[in-house]
Amino acid sequence: MSTNPQYILALDLGTTGNRAILFNNDGDVVGQAYKELPQYYPHPGWLEHDGREIWRDTREAIANVLAQTDTKASQIGAIGLTVQRETCLLWDKTTGQPFHKAIVWQDRRTASLCNELTEQGKAEDIQERTGLVLDAYFSATKLAWLLDWLKKEQPEVKMENVLAGTVDTWILWNLTGGKVHATDRSNASRTMLMNLATGNWDNTLLELFGIPPHIMPEIKPSMGTFGTVDPGLFGQEIPITAIFGDQQAALFAHGCDRPGLLKCTYGTGCFLVAQAGTELTRSQNRLLATVAWTTPTETKYALEAAMFTTGACIQWLRDGLQLIQSAAETESLARLAGENKGVYFVPALSGLGAPHWDMNARGSFQGITGGVKREHMVRSVLESIAYQVKEAVEAMNKDSANPISLLKVDGGASKNDFLMQFQADVLGIPVERPAVQDATAQGAAFGAGLAIGFWDGYESVIAKRQVDRTFTPGEGQKQAQEGFEVWLRAVERAKNWAS
Ligand code: ADP
Repeated sequence: MSTNPQYILALDLGTTGNRAILFNNDGDVVGQAYKELPQYYPHPGWLEHDGREIWRDTREAIANVLAQTDTKASQIGAIGLTVQRETCLLWDKTTGQPFHKAIVWQDRRTASLCNELTEQGKAEDIQERTGLVLDAYFSATKLAWLLDWLKKEQPEVKMENVLAGTVDTWILWNLTGGKVHATDRSNASRTMLMNLATGNWDNTLLELFGIPPHIMPEIKPSMGTFGTVDPGLFGQEIPITAIFGDQQAALFAHGCDRPGLLKCTYGTGCFLVAQAGTELTRSQNRLLATVAWTTPTETKYALEAAMFTTGACIQWLRDGLQLIQSAAETESLARLAGENKGVYFVPALSGLGAPHWDMNARGSFQGITGGVKREHMVRSVLESIAYQVKEAVEAMNKDSANPISLLKVDGGASKNDFLMQFQADVLGIPVERPAVQDATAQGAAFGAGLAIGFWDGYESVIAKRQVDRTFTPGEGQKQAQEGFEVWLRAVERAKNWAS
């Protein structure tokens, strides 16, 4: 292990791709390596990732960032790991191979199981135990599906050799050479199997979903000792000292450590997360109660509005419809369009999350007439991202005595100036974008570094962060806010479609 560490390495394993970023003591990015991750759509509404590809790309990203910056593993003080949440897989601890591809958080294959549980009157009890709205989004029904599949397709497999985990657990297990099977409380709180009040696996829920307790990882504090990287991988043991769910990591990076502070991340989905402090707070408006992060002595909670498909619609415009060549191109096209020509898009490609929680909603374009061009369609997709966030902000405001007066943002799609200005216009409040938009990775680095004393303290590391730009509501406000009312009508038509 390093005695004079110069860097902290953040591993940001997202839905669209895997990234390794090196941060120096000033909190600046020194170098990074990234690779987009293949998405597998075996059936409508299903989405899978290959666990082996996630591990291979993580290893390559680490090796590449070290090579690019001429850094030795011995210069790294600690690793912070942050991952796409809820996505889960099963693997064989004797071979290290996954039994099946990972089922991604957006995957809707278990919607019918959720509906059955609702009919059996289980939804309220599940929400009481976990803080979560019963939905196919979370890991519990996905793990139940994978176990059913395993029993049917590979009945010879001995259950004692099976391990389960979210992406953090899978990568931690691989990084430590199969020595550590653990997760952190922020990721565990998204499985719908952790009891939010106790912070442990809930035996009633494990039984309900048919999950043997021994296949589940140990739950640990988000910041603390998880294990060390197998020296055979990069020639050196490196401690892993922080694990966060991606949204919680971004909340940490934004300095949102007190009630009243919140952020919105624009990635594959959009996630509006508000710090709720050390008291478990429950929502009256179908927001999720979840763990923000934990230390060995303290738990912080959060309230969250999860919107499943935002940046993913931009990827769909690029890869599915092939209407654009790059995500960035949406910005110039939206400006070229000048207006949406009456077109409204409902981004329910994986159903709708907060505040609707409709697994059967599906995407739609509405209001198309003969004069509509490609740029209007593209603009309507960007507008729909901002409209979804407006709905979430309104739900959050209903839950709180003080309305939100500033939105801190980050994530891939927050680079889009048109979208950020439109967001400020439709919300009627300023939108603040930080200089480092990889807040997710930054949060994991901050957590890992603080755990080893690399930084003086949380406040001082947060104080070094710079604002890139603040978007204030402007002349587009009236048009944007009127458009929101029309969009709400479009949403009603897209709901309950796939049933
Ligand atoms: P995740 O962590 O969920 O993988 P990221 O924060 O890395 O997501 O952001 C990637 C997403 O942002 C992709 O879905 C991509 O389509 C979208 N995106 C990236 N750049 C832009 C842009 N300039 N305008 C709109 N969307 C963008």
